[in-house]
Amino acid sequence: MSELTLEQAQNLLLARTEKIEETEEILLWEGVGRTLAGDIFAQHDQPPFPRSPLDGYAARSRDIKGASKKRPVALMVIDEVDAGHVGSRKVEEGTAVRIMTGAPIPEGADCVIRQEDTDYGQEQVEIYEEAGPYENYCFAGEDYKAGSKILGKGTRLGAIELGTLASLGSERVRVFRRVRAAVLTTGDELALPGEELKPGKIYDSNLYTLVIRLTALGVEVVRKGRTGDSPEEAAAWIREAVREADMILTTGGVSVGKKDIMHDALKRLVCERIFWKIAIKPGMPTLCAQAEGKLLICLSGNPFGAAANLELLVRPVLAKMTGRKELELTRLPAVAESEFPKRSGVTRYVRAFYEDGRVKIPEGSNASGILSSMCGCNCLMEIPAGTQALKKGDKVWIVLL
Ligand code: AMP
Ligand code: MG
Repeated sequence: MSELTLEQAQNLLLARTEKIEETEEILLWEGVGRTLAGDIFAQHDQPPFPRSPLDGYAARSRDIKGASKKRPVALMVIDEVDAGHVGSRKVEEGTAVRIMTGAPIPEGADCVIRQEDTDYGQEQVEIYEEAGPYENYCFAGEDYKAGSKILGKGTRLGAIELGTLASLGSERVRVFRRVRAAVLTTGDELALPGEELKPGKIYDSNLYTLVIRLTALGVEVVRKGRTGDSPEEAAAWIREAVREADMILTTGGVSVGKKDIMHDALKRLVCERIFWKIAIKPGMPTLCAQAEGKLLICLSGNPFGAAANLELLVRPVLAKMTGRKELELTRLPAVAESEFPKRSGVTRYVRAFYEDGRVKIPEGSNASGILSSMCGCNCLMEIPAGTQALKKGDKVWIVLL
């Protein structure tokens, strides 16, 4: 049995992991979830001109001092400006300009009177309410000023950040490139969903679980594929994949059986083994290497083992490669609401559902070959090595998925 703890295994991988510094320019449309490669500064004031926040009349505050419904002030309406247009007239004593929300406030005016506080006059307007200097007046640059820093390097982009970048006027943004991964499933027994299921075969679920989870974590899966239990084929596939990918993930063939072909496959590559076997369940036979210069993480074919170890081993690596803290594993204390009767010789991870400090194990088996009972789970419950049967009310740690 392996003496390597999960933490030691994680550290061995992290020691061979570097942050990706390469950048690329992409369309804002494709920016969600990406990370800014540099600080962003405004090239112009936002808004670029003083503008009206409402529909009304732009005027000089000193001309309408004391105006009220009883003592309205009459102004001559000399122009009309809609949003998107620029007026041609300057507001001078005794005059006003009809103005719409978002339109530039004309020269000479220092306030806007709401249209509800007027008689809506066309040629001449009666003002029923006074306004102070710069009342209902949006200054140029009140959102941000030209030259000011809008977003910092390392910011994760979502809809609001991308909308803000759009307001700056560029349709592109420079971001760090994504981690590129390749995923290979191995096994003579595997059939692809959509194919007919022949005797002795099972559908390949790992390819879906892994590719989809990696994609959700922001990884670009540059290659996905499947080989049979053939070390030559697996090695050839990996040799091709390392040309594009930063890391290669495989499932199957890492245990000690006759068909555990990954050991043989590794011998066919320029390859340094980092470790084989970790003292955890599931995922005990995990095999990691540096192959052709890239990280090669060979997971057990058991669907729960592959899914759990993708979280436990690969997420910390992704966090370091991307600098994204939220990819690091989150451990939380919780109170067990279920029993787990098996004694654990090594640290065991049990699929579970966490809510409000409590954690529950779903119905169905926790066996590493079983995936369906993990549907709806949001964490792995950690049962330390040497723990006797877990009882309701026991304190445990969980790792959020
Ligand atoms: P292995 O790690 O190759 O010894 O496989 C362990 C178990 O997982 C076996 O029962 C396999 O049939 C099953 N298995 C292997 N690969 C996959 C896969 N891609 N999808 C679903 N089950 C798999
Ligand atoms: Mg196999």
